Amino acid sequence: MRLVFIGPPGAGKGTQAARLIERYSLVHLSTGDMLRAARDAQTEIGRKADAYMSRGELVPDEIILAIVEERLNQPDCARGFLLDGFPRTIAQAEALDRMLAARGTPLDVVLELRVPEEELFRRLAGRGRSDDSPEVIRQRLVAYRNQTQPLLDYYGRTGLLRSVDGVGTVDEVFERIVSLLDAYPAQESRL
Ligand code: AMP
Repeated sequence: MRLVFIGPPGAGKGTQAARLIERYSLVHLSTGDMLRAARDAQTEIGRKADAYMSRGELVPDEIILAIVEERLNQPDCARGFLLDGFPRTIAQAEALDRMLAARGTPLDVVLELRVPEEELFRRLAGRGRSDDSPEVIRQRLVAYRNQTQPLLDYYGRTGLLRSVDGVGTVDEVFERIVSLLDAYPAQESRL
């Protein structure tokens, strides 16, 4: 199964992703994790990305597309993957479509985790990561609204989009996602 997981910062994507990759034996591809690893390793990409990340802004597409393409070329991705935090813009979604079309491995489903903004702010403020100061949180929510929300329309048009209510316990939300994915007809032949 090839899955894109979309949701605002603080929606619980990371937690749910960890469970989903285990349940469906997927590779977890998180561009946020890749960028943080590059930043911690002080690679050139990491240094460039850090300037944007520390302001809560999106890292330029050319940097993101290069790291995603390199990762998708690795053989473990053939068993299926969950993209977490990518694509975040229409341009990234179009580039992903092109990359996957070239490989003959299109997406199966795009999953949106829905959480109201007040709830997100409350959750993020309690998390204490260095990019979680109130101003940076606000900026990240604005970036989501402006740049990522249009993706939902994009994937809505392709018919791949499925939305799940992200409010509730981790177990409740996981069960919602699993019942949706298990009922998803395209999957049976592909899992
Ligand atoms: P995340 O952990 O997914 O919230 O990502 C943390 C930060 O990394 C974001 O606030 C962006 O600065 C950057 N980032 C991660 N993924 C992307 C992406 N697909 N496009 C642009 N910037 C990204």
